Amino acid sequence: MSGHDPDCLFCRIAAGEIPANKVYEDDDIVAFHDINPGAPVHFLIIPREHVRNLYDTDDGHQALLGKLFGISSRLAREQGLDDGFRIVVNNGRIARQEVYHLHVHVLGGPEPLRAAAKPAP
Ligand code: AMP
Ligand code: ZN
Repeated sequence: MSGHDPDCLFCRIAAGEIPANKVYEDDDIVAFHDINPGAPVHFLIIPREHVRNLYDTDDGHQALLGKLFGISSRLAREQGLDDGFRIVVNNGRIARQEVYHLHVHVLGGPEPLRAAAKPAP
């Protein structure tokens, strides 16, 4: 598979080598529930291609980036989020990114969400 990093957790989830509670997958992207949810509904949308974060993207990634965001509302509705949701992308050290494979967090639930930014270290 192009852009597969065998040492990357999310590459391995995308490849089916590590189990995850998937909610969607196609040739380009995979979505699965976060193992440590920060909201009643919390899933991640990732590209299959190993891209560390937004610093690793260029003009050639525009369609892929559009797909990651473009499918978010459909998947959110399918997970019962029809009254709003939050999108978070933790990008790089200052944002305390933990998994260096680009991912879009989708968070929601019945109650209004508090700010999702991580506290300063
Ligand atoms: P970030 O801090 O933006 O890099 O977020 C990484 C997210 O990946 C965290 O919310 C973790 O709970 C989540 N995560 C880590 N390992 C797994 C896994 N095996 N399956 C699903 N989610 C995971
Ligand atoms: Zn990866």
